Amino acid sequence: MLVRAIDQEVLDLLLEMGRSSFPDEYIVMLGMEKGVINVTYPIPGTTVSQDSANIFMDMIPLGMQIAGTAHSHPNGCLSPSDADLATFSQSGQCHIIVGAPFDENSWRCYGRDGKVKTLEVIS
Ligand SMILES: [Zn+2]
Repeated sequence: MLVRAIDQEVLDLLLEMGRSSFPDEYIVMLGMEKGVINVTYPIPGTTVSQDSANIFMDMIPLGMQIAGTAHSHPNGCLSPSDADLATFSQSGQCHIIVGAPFDENSWRCYGRDGKVKTLEVIS
C-alpha cells in the first residue's frame, strides 16, 4: 500500500510533539490505513538526546502497518542528516521531518531514497 496522505490531526500532533520536546528531538513511527497516515506509535527503547534519536527497528511489533517515521529538528532545518538518510533507507516509505517553529509549514516528507515526497493533508 502506497502512502498518499496524512490525517490533519496526526500532522498537528507531530508539530505539537516538536514543540513540547523542544529543545530535544523526538521520533515516532507512523502507522497507516488505506494509504493514509492516521496514527503515531512511540518506539520502545528509543534513546533521545539533543543531537540524536535512534530507532531500534527490532523492537517494532510484527503486524504493524508502518508508513515510516517522523522526527523533529529543533534547529529548524528541514533537510535530512546523513544519519537520517541511513534510517530512511532501512524501512518505511514516508519519513517526516518537522522543524522549529513547528507551524503548519514546518514539515517535509521524504521517501526512502531521501527525495522530497508530496503528501496530501486530509482533514
Ligand atoms: Zn534528523
